[in-house]
Parts: sequence; C-alpha cells; structure tokens
Amino acid sequence: MKKKALITGVNGQDGSYLAELLLEKGYEVYGLMRRKSKVSYGNVEHLKNDIEFIYGDMTDLISLINAMKISQADEVYNLAAQSFVGTSWEQPLATAEIDALGVTNMLEAIRTVKPEAKFYQASTSEMYGLVQEMPQTEDTPFYPRSPYGVAKLYGHWITKNYRESYQIFGCSGILFNHESERRGKEFVTRKITDAVARIKLGVQDRLELGNMDAKRDWGHAKDYVKAMWLMLQQDEADDYVVATGETHKVREFVELAFKHVGIDIEWRGEGVEEEGIDKATGKVVVAVNPKFFRPAEVDVLLGSPKKAEKKLNWEREISFEELVKRMVKADLKRVEKEVAF
Ligand code: GDP
Repeated sequence: MKKKALITGVNGQDGSYLAELLLEKGYEVYGLMRRKSKVSYGNVEHLKNDIEFIYGDMTDLISLINAMKISQADEVYNLAAQSFVGTSWEQPLATAEIDALGVTNMLEAIRTVKPEAKFYQASTSEMYGLVQEMPQTEDTPFYPRSPYGVAKLYGHWITKNYRESYQIFGCSGILFNHESERRGKEFVTRKITDAVARIKLGVQDRLELGNMDAKRDWGHAKDYVKAMWLMLQQDEADDYVVATGETHKVREFVELAFKHVGIDIEWRGEGVEEEGIDKATGKVVVAVNPKFFRPAEVDVLLGSPKKAEKKLNWEREISFEELVKRMVKADLKRVEKEVAF
C-alpha cells in the first residue's frame, strides 16, 4: 500500500519541493488548494497530473475534515500560511486566522478523522524575533516581532499541546529563512535576484530596498523539505531547528547577486542616503527606500542545526553562494525570455 500525504499550501515554494520529494518516494500526494475564480497551480504546475487536489481553506474546519476523509493521509504537512512578514501588519487578523487558528483546525480534523496520522507544523525562526541568544536553538526563548511571528508562535505551541494532550504525533520544524528560484518576489532575496537580472538586461534602472543591515540565516528550500519528511519518520515526535549555522547581511546578498552578473558594487553614503554604485559605469543601481522599513525589525537570525544533524541525520547540500547563484541564474533566464517577447 502506498503511503498517503496531505500537503496544505501545496502550490507554494515549500509545498512544491515537498511534493516532488514525496512523489519520488512513492507517496500518493494530496494537495489542499483554495478555490479561486482563476485556477492557478503556482509552483506545482508541472505536477498537476501527479497530485490529487482537494479544495479547502485553513479557516474552514469542515473543509479540512473533508480533506482528511478524502485523503486518509498518513502524514499531514501544514505549509499553508500567510507567510510574508510585511503583510502581517496590513492583515493581522487574517494572518492570525490562517497561521494560528488554522493550525488548530487542522489538528482537530486529524483528531476527528484519523488521530494516528502524523503532523508536521511549519514553525519559523521569526518566533525568535528579538533574539535572546546566539545562535538560536530549540531551547532559546521566543520573542516574536510581527503579527506573523506571534501567530506562528500560537501554531507552534498548539502543536506541542495536542502532542501532550491527545498524543497526536505532531512535530514543529523551526525553519530559518529558506529561499529558492521559486520564492515569492515580495521576499528580499527574490526581489534582489529578479532586480539584478532586470538591471543586467537593461529593463530596470535600480533596486530599492529597506534595511540592508538585517542579517539572516538563508538556506535552500529543497534541502529544508527533506528535514520535514525526516521528522515524521522518527519513532517519537519532537521539534527541530533547521538552519545553516551561517548568517549574512542583506547587503552581502546584494553584492553577491550582482557579482554573478559581472557587476561590482561600491557603497556610498549611510542610512537612508546609502547607495550602491556599479563600479564600472558609476551608475546608482541600489538605493534605500524607507517605505520598505518595518514597524519592528528582526535584526539578526542565526540557527543551530545541531539537533537536526544529529538526530535526523539531516545535512544541507546547497551553500549560501550556490543559493544566490541558482536564483540569479534562474531569474536571468526568465527575464531574458520575457524581454525576447
Ligand atoms: P523575513 O525574514 O521572513 O521577514 O524575510 P524577508 O525576505 O521578507 O526579509 C528579510 C529581511 O530583509 C528583513 O529584515 C527585511 O527588513 C529586510 N529587507 C530589506 N529590504 C527589504 C525589501 O525591500 N523587501 C523585503 N521583503 N525585505 C527587506
């Protein structure tokens, strides 16, 4: 009998890599999708004939019970979320309904239909926010700095609580930032690589950013979905940090991305006056726009992947340099095609 998995948020970045991994492993994959007037498979367009799609919504318990009944999933991966920190200040209630209460809905659906199903909750390094120690581990106290971080903290604790209250096999993966060629363009990494490709090809003049001093622990999503799967293959449910153990400034990501298209950046000025100049031409290609500053910032994130490495035997394969390179390369290819039309 084939194992069955239900992935919420299947058409997002992580959902698509996880679906590929599970299909490769011979799983029957069910994907929860929200119904829209125009059907969009997002990042799983190439898998649309391999995944069984079920319409549903994290805010609608009945639809989740239905999804469990149809799929009879052995493993449920909860990746559905309003996942952009910036938007969580504009839509704090929707963020809480989906990212916090949505988790309880999914857990209740599991409890009602198939309590022995294993559950993965997508927790996040944003829960550390104003970090209390370096590096952050599974034992570091949380201090979220955005409505997104606060909502995700609820999801984290309710997963733990259902494990302790009802013996649900629920694991939280505290994943640090993970990016890829499929990352949404609202996130800083993809915004940068898309702009670098456009500037290189002469269809954009400059890249405007907010706080370039923010530091993040960035890995590749393809490596991180393997950790999700590994967590559910253990004898006992537990929580794990998934990170690279390296941290880099946004400014460093910018420099490296430009370097891949042969542009050397020189920095001039400070604060909102800071500018990135193309050394060869003297043109300003990076500028600060305060519109991208956040009401409360997470200055630095740095995770320790030691527990995941030891207990799950998890190892990342894609380095920071390789991540930036892959993203720039993919965006160059895509923008080149767009320009050709
Ligand atoms: P997050 O860590 O989940 O918030 O991921 P993001 O990619 O959205 O942001 C990472 C960091 O980059 C944050 O500290 C942002 O403040 C910073 N940043 C600087 N400029 C920008 C920008 O133009 N867009 C975004 N999204 N983030 C920016």
